[in-house]
Amino acid sequence: MSSTFEHVTLGQRVLFGSAKAAENLATEVARFGAKRVMVIASKFESQTAAEVASGIEVALHYNDVVPHVPIEKAKKARTAAVEHGIDLLVCVGGGSTTGLAKAIAMTSGLPIVAVPTTYAGSEATNVWGLTQAAHKATGIDDKVLPATVIYDATLTLSLPADLSVASGLNALAHCVDSMWGPRADPINQALAAEGIRALNAGLPLIKLDPQGLAGREQALYGAYLAAVAFASAGSGMHHKICHVLGGTWNMPHAQTHATVLPYVLAFNAPEAPEATSRIAAAFGTDDAVAGLDNLRTFLDAPEALKDYGFSEESIPEAVDLILPVIPASNPRKPTAENLTELLRAATAGTARGL
Ligand code: NAD
Repeated sequence: MSSTFEHVTLGQRVLFGSAKAAENLATEVARFGAKRVMVIASKFESQTAAEVASGIEVALHYNDVVPHVPIEKAKKARTAAVEHGIDLLVCVGGGSTTGLAKAIAMTSGLPIVAVPTTYAGSEATNVWGLTQAAHKATGIDDKVLPATVIYDATLTLSLPADLSVASGLNALAHCVDSMWGPRADPINQALAAEGIRALNAGLPLIKLDPQGLAGREQALYGAYLAAVAFASAGSGMHHKICHVLGGTWNMPHAQTHATVLPYVLAFNAPEAPEATSRIAAAFGTDDAVAGLDNLRTFLDAPEALKDYGFSEESIPEAVDLILPVIPASNPRKPTAENLTELLRAATAGTARGL
């Protein structure tokens, strides 16, 4: 571990408490002195959003939310915020909903209070994403970092078990990729290791008892640590692969991450002994790849990219897009050959010992 590094900690208030979202939101709205609040939630999330916002005055309920923030939807939401004289954005939902709030904050500078209902983690990063003509652009801007995050595990109880598993493994991918991201350092690695421990403890509890709060709370805590680590360490090989697959082939975010992760871990593990032993220890085992495999088997995790709309014939195009963007910090040098082999195995859902 290098003891020479530069680490940036992002400034954000975090309020954690089951069944406390409505109360905590009312406190935050008062603290901001907000008079014109825009509550953003997709149609599926709008009932939850109404309950969370039951203690505040809402100027605009906005629910035109779709995955990957198409630029047209962002422009429409920005116009609505201006027309209604909004002074605070509140988003209640998954990463797609948080993403739309970020798109508004990007141009308006309005503060965001984020109330996440999945384990995607966008709420704890200063990363925005916008899709235009099948290309997803991302960037960093401190204006999009939510000022406050309100975590309430009761809001995740409605997330079906299979989506909870995929979303939780998306969070786990933030932790694993943080071990070798371009700005990996001992602080974000420590957060990532604790994130792995919490997710490895919480996700099996969700599988066993989807309506129990203990697993949900552990997973939400782990998802937050994962996102903080990831925001600080930056995108590694895993995220570059999933970003291209999601943006170009419109694949479902969480399931794509859940499927690709074991392949990237197996790919890098032999060349990253220090990171791999930290990951293994966080799983409570001496073999990181086996630790992840055990968890995935217990969770009945997504197995193959072909199940989510990706096929073998797209691999050459994917390799062309992914290879140039894998950071130089990646422990194992990617080549067209080994990346093709990785994608072929992940597409079919076979053979991880790359
Ligand atoms: P999502 O927000 O699209 O949600 C998936 C589905 O689950 C949606 O249909 C949603 O309505 C539903 N849902 C959400 N919460 C629910 C609940 N509690 N109960 C029942 N249904 C619920 O998916 P996601 O995986 O949360 O987020 C993915 C998006 O977030 C992607 O666009 C990704 O790029 C982005 N993201 C961005 C960052 C960042 O740092 N900018 C980080 C992670 C993810």
